[in-house]
Formats: sequence, structure tokens, C-alpha cells
Amino acid sequence: MKKIIICGAGIGGMVSAIRLAHLGYKSEIFEKNNYAGGKMGEYYESGFRFDTGPSLITMPYVLEDFFNEIGRDIKNYINLIPLDNACRYFWSDGVSLNAYTDHIRFKDEFISVFGEEEYSGFLNYLEYGKFFYEMSEKNILQSEFRIRNFLTAKGIKNINKFISGKSINDLSNKFFKDPKLKQLFDRYATYNGSSPYLASQIFSIIPYIEFKYGAWYPEGGMYRIAKALARLCGEYGIRINYGHELSDISSASGNINKCIFTVNDEAQKSISDFDIMISNFTNNIKLTGKEYFKTGDWSSSGFIALIGFNEISDILSQHNIFFSGDYEKEFLDIFEKKIPADDMTVYISVTGKSERNDAPAGTENWFVLVNAPALNDNFTWTEKNKYDYFEKVIDKINSFELFPGDIREKIIFSKIFTPADFLKNYGSEFGSIYGLSSNSLFTMFRRPKNKSDNYNNLYFTGGNTHPGGGVPLCFLSGKIVSEIIRDGNKNAY
Ligand SMILES: Cc1cc2nc3c(=O)[nH]c(=O)nc-3n(C[C@H](O)[C@H](O)[C@H](O)COP(=O)(O)OP(=O)(O)OC[C@H]3O[C@@H](n4cnc5c(N)ncnc54)[C@H](O)[C@@H]3O)c2cc1C
Repeated sequence: MKKIIICGAGIGGMVSAIRLAHLGYKSEIFEKNNYAGGKMGEYYESGFRFDTGPSLITMPYVLEDFFNEIGRDIKNYINLIPLDNACRYFWSDGVSLNAYTDHIRFKDEFISVFGEEEYSGFLNYLEYGKFFYEMSEKNILQSEFRIRNFLTAKGIKNINKFISGKSINDLSNKFFKDPKLKQLFDRYATYNGSSPYLASQIFSIIPYIEFKYGAWYPEGGMYRIAKALARLCGEYGIRINYGHELSDISSASGNINKCIFTVNDEAQKSISDFDIMISNFTNNIKLTGKEYFKTGDWSSSGFIALIGFNEISDILSQHNIFFSGDYEKEFLDIFEKKIPADDMTVYISVTGKSERNDAPAGTENWFVLVNAPALNDNFTWTEKNKYDYFEKVIDKINSFELFPGDIREKIIFSKIFTPADFLKNYGSEFGSIYGLSSNSLFTMFRRPKNKSDNYNNLYFTGGNTHPGGGVPLCFLSGKIVSEIIRDGNKNAY
């Protein structure tokens, strides 16, 4: 059996390793950090626990399938809990909407806020998302990216919908009249780090999936998923070498034959006893090739504030969105001017709503996330800029006048992460969350494929490659890579 080296212990890296071990391959993981999970991390301070990356699971069946397919019962590893409310949305004029996961309850809520006609628009919108989902679930999300996968009879008949150039925002304009609903459905573009004014209408698949499969949360926190995967690695005898940062590679005859690691920021170590390499990141130009770095159209990054909040608020649900006043300007700032938006949309996740142990009695753990541009020359996250922006975000939350007084008085502590921290902690390109953005079909096609074009024995897994970002898709990426390796090249393009 061939021996595999996997660089990066993010979700995609660990899932690939486990699936391949289940098929009988021997593999070893090399991870630069001293923990597993990559962007899925956690943070503890003063009796508070926070998930520092993902906060919402939307395709629970993907995780269930993974455990079934390796002959394990998911319940022995992760307890996925359905949420009653996927998100509470707030607008500055006092309007709010609960996205209840019970469809009848949601219908009542939706109609009471936006009326019957808009609800019909919503159902028609979902049909659109359903169409894209059904077209892509097996052929694209669960398979290697191949042009011929699009060329089914139905795909050819509907090719216009795929290449029409219509954006998510165009779709919102088609189905909704109220600007608030347009904003709500446009926001789904941010799930893969894109702008709704640029990204394809194909991504209407995202709200469809959320509506159909609901919103989920693993008991004990999102980080339980990373822990479960690390535990499975142990059970399969897959060693994770922490503190090993890939610094260079060498190759011969189209194959990578040596990986050089910097170990704990000091010594160098070379590994050459492997046949196949899987990379869980795309930050190395020698692996991805120069073309990948040429467009510079990176997906968004994030500005995060972890806040210990000295009150339990009835205003918040587990997931909350406070919308900006001008969405178009917000995305122009992020993707064209490449500066943090002055008038920003603020997401607050409070896992303490499900997990009382995540915060001391009478308090809450607020994970505050704002979309921000990937690192670039137009803005630098100096210490001053970082704290100034934090003040702006707090002002924005205060401006909704939902919390009595200034919320600053209730902040016990705050810990801030900027795009510069994303770069340092995850090694992601320019601090972006998903590598190249999905803002155009052109950049989407430039994302590295699961099987590298540059080396015969190199594969990519994770959110920066096919089928895309987000925890469930990273699980699918690991599945696809393991299947390509299992099947050899027999299904090549
Ligand atoms: C703030 C935030 C919020 C998010 N919210 C959600 C959400 O609600 N729901 C959702 O589904 N998804 C969400 N995501 C996205 C999701 O977290 C990611 O898509 C997913 O975790 C990425 O997994 P991955 O397999 O791509 O690996 P990554 O997490 O990118 O891990 C790659 C690993 O490679 C390591 N590495 C990098 N360079 C090197 C090197 N040179 N040598 C060795 N190791 C290296 C890194 O340290 C890291 O451990 C969010 C992400 C962030 C950051």
C-alpha cells in the first residue's frame, strides 16, 4: 500500500487521513500549530469558552454519512443538536425576524413581518436554490470537479442558469421587493467569503440547504468536531506531528519526493519516505503554481471580538445578525476599496444559549464577527486600527438601541483577532478564509483542483479547493480526495 503524507490538520486533512486509513492506506499528518482543527479552534478566558471559527453546521447528513461510511456511530463522537432558530435578524429601524427551523412557525413569522406576497417570493426563491442543489449535490459537491459533470441532459438544457452571469443580488431582486429581504438573502454569499453583488446565483443553494436541513450545533461546542476527528486519527494509528510547518518541497519527474519542515520554529526536518502528498492548504506557491496567486481576488477575511458579557440577554438568540444600513457600500468597501467597512453588518453568536457551561452564571460568551477584506496594501491592522475598529463595531451594536445603555459597561473582557491573526494562525493566503473568492466563474475555476495539475502525486483538500468552504464541504473534500486516490487515475478528466 502507498504511504501518504498529509500537510495540515484542518478538517479536510484529518477527514482525508481517516478515510484513507479506513481504505488501508498508511498516512501521517504534519501540522504547523500545536492543535488540530485549523480554522476550527477554541479559546478559554476567565471561565468563558468560545469557538473561534465556525459556529453553525448546515448539512448534518454529511457528517453522519462520514461516520457511517467508516463504520462508526456518530453519537459516540458528536451529538448534533438542531436549533429552533437558525438566526435572529435585526435591522436598525427596529424590525427583526426569527428564522425558525420549524417551517410552519417560520411561515407565520415571515408573513407577520413581510406579508404573504413576499412569502410567495421566498418559496419561489427556494425552488431556484433547490434546482441548483439537485443539479450539483451528487455531480459536483460529492465528486471531483470535472467539466463533464455539468454536461448531463438537464445540465445542458439549463446551462444558461449556470453561466448567465446573474449574481445572488440579481436573484434577490427578482424574488423580493423589500430591501430587508434582499439583504437577508444576499448575506448568504458571505458563507463562502464572496460579495452578493458579484458571486453567481448558483449560491442560492446555500439558503436552500439551510432551510431544508436546518441549523445544527454540536453539544459541547463546534470544537468537538475537530476533537472527534483527532480522536479518530488516534484510533486509526494516524500520527499527527504538531509544530511542523512545511517550508519547502523538492520534486523529480513530476512527483514531489521531499517535504522540508521547520519544526517548532527552529530545526529543519526532511521527509521523503512517501508516495503521495495531500495538502490541506494552498498557501505555497510551489504547490499551487504561480497562476493561483495572480488574480489577487481573495475571499473575505474576518474581524473577531470574543466578549465576556456581564448579563444574559433575552434580545439575542444563538445566532444573530445586525445589518448595516447600506449593504452595497459595505461590499464595495470590502472587495473594491479593500478596507474594513465603516457601516458594517455584525454577527453575534452566543453558544452559551445552548451550553450554560460556556460562560459563568449570569454572563454570556459573545463571538462577534464582521466581514473584513483579506490583507492588502490599502489598510494595515495596526494595534490602533484594531482597537478603533472594535469601538466602531460596539457603536454599531449600540446604535440599534436594543440593549439599555452602552454595552461597553457590560464587557468583562474582549479578545480581538484580525485578518493578520488569520494569516498567522492558519497560514491562509492574505488572511482570507476560503483562498480565492467565488466572486466570478473565472476565479472559481482558478481554485486548485483536488488532484493537482502540477504534480502527479499531489492532492489538495479543504475549504480552498473543491467543493468549497465551510465545514461540511471540507468533509466532502476529504471524501473526494480519498476516492480519487483509491481509484487511481482511471476517472481522469
Ligand atoms: C471566523 C470563521 C467563521 C466561520 N464560520 C463557519 C460556519 O459557521 N460554518 C461553517 O461550516 N464554516 C465556517 N467557517 C469555515 C470553516 O471553518 C472552514 O472552511 C474549515 O474549517 C476549513 O477547513 P480546512 O480543511 O480547509 O482546513 P483549515 O482550517 O484551513 O486548516 C489548514 C491547516 O493547515 C495548517 N497549515 C497551514 N500552513 C501550513 C504549513 N505550511 N505547514 C503545516 N501546516 C500548515 C494550518 O495550521 C491548519 O491547521 C468559518 C471560518 C472562519 C475562520
